This record gives sequence, C-alpha cells and structure tokens, in this order.
Amino acid sequence: MRPGMKKLTSLVVATHNVHKLEEIAAWFGPYGVEIVPLSLFSQEMPAETGTTFAENALIKARHGYLASGLPTLADDSGLEVDFLGGAPGVFSSRFAGEGANDEENNRKLLAAMGDTPLRTARFRCVMVLVWGAAAVQAEGVCPGVILHRPRGEGGFGYDPLFWLPGKNCSMAELSREEKNKISHRARALANLVTKLEAEGLI
Ligand code: IMP
Repeated sequence: MRPGMKKLTSLVVATHNVHKLEEIAAWFGPYGVEIVPLSLFSQEMPAETGTTFAENALIKARHGYLASGLPTLADDSGLEVDFLGGAPGVFSSRFAGEGANDEENNRKLLAAMGDTPLRTARFRCVMVLVWGAAAVQAEGVCPGVILHRPRGEGGFGYDPLFWLPGKNCSMAELSREEKNKISHRARALANLVTKLEAEGLI
C-alpha cells in the first residue's frame, strides 16, 4: 500500500447519473466500500476541458475530492471511430453541437460515415480515483462496428448504431444486465478493482 493511504471504506462518485452510481456501487459492495453521491457535497460539475478521457476524469475526480475531502472516483467515456480519426472522442456528448441530443449526435455520425466500409469503432472509458495527491487510473474498451442505420431500443447515446460482432446484435439490443457485463465501463471498473486489490486498498 502507498504511504499515507489506508483501506477504502467510502468512495465519493463524481457523477449526477444514478445509473452510474448503481453500477459502481455493485462493484464495490462486495468489498464493503460505501458509495457516496457527489450531490451531498456539490451540485456542480466542472467543465470538461480536457483533450483526453483521462484528463476529463481527473478534472471531475479532483473536483469531488476538493468538495468532499474523501477519495473520489470519476469516469469519462465516449466513442472512437477509426474512419473519423478517433472522433467524436471527448466530444461524444456534443458531437452535433453543445446541448445536442442522442438522436442528433447519431444522425451526425451516420452522415459523417456515409457509405464507407471502414466502420470499426470502440467505446472507451477511463476511471480515475483521486485520494489526496495520489491517483489510480484504469481503462476499459468495448470494440464494435458502426451500423448503417439504428437498431434496438435500449441503452442510450450511440448504442443503436454500435454493432457487437461477438453478440450479433447492437448495444441497444442488449438488456441492461448484459450490457453491464461487457461495456467499456464494466471493463474499466473490473480493471480498477483489480488494481485497487493489488495495492491493498480494498
Ligand atoms: P459519459 O462520459 O459517460 O457521460 O459519456 C459521454 C458521451 O459518450 C455520452 O453522452 C454518449 O454520447 C457517449 N457514451 C458513453 N458511454 C456510452 C454508452 O455506453 N453507450 C452509448 N454512448 C455512450
């Protein structure tokens, strides 16, 4: 274990998204780590001004740590499309402009892809845990292919355009439980938990 650190008993999660809180709580529950919502300490979220998922996750985790004084976990995620040189990336939520909704972003993605056969992509998630001066980072990736038209009603964001070759369906055709087993977020959380275990922090 690093000097000055002790086992985690509670963890602030720097998000106002209830689904993310629940998903993260399910991973930490078995270790007896209580998940505390950021809203107990701050109603605000800092501007995501980073150029990478890791920078944005660090900005959010630091904000939570400064507001709460407790170890804070934050994530940042998005879609990387090879044909678009990795875009929309950190601009995933605002690909079609500030305040754009999922449908507008998906429409912009389809237009940008046109008929190209080069449709490989991945969802990437970076998790950063900030604790004083220390930070632990973990990443998860879920590979797929961009469809020519939406499929499925579940999920959110780019899920209806994201084909999972191994599952033979789109991300939006998976149940929440199935998605939570294979998603970039799940993989990042699995990697984070493994790292924290190895460091004796959980
Ligand atoms: P966030 O960092 O988790 O808030 O994600 C930023 C943006 O990336 C979202 O607004 C979506 O456009 C996209 N995104 C992230 N995760 C997913 C996912 O699991 N499915 C579909 N889109 C996602």
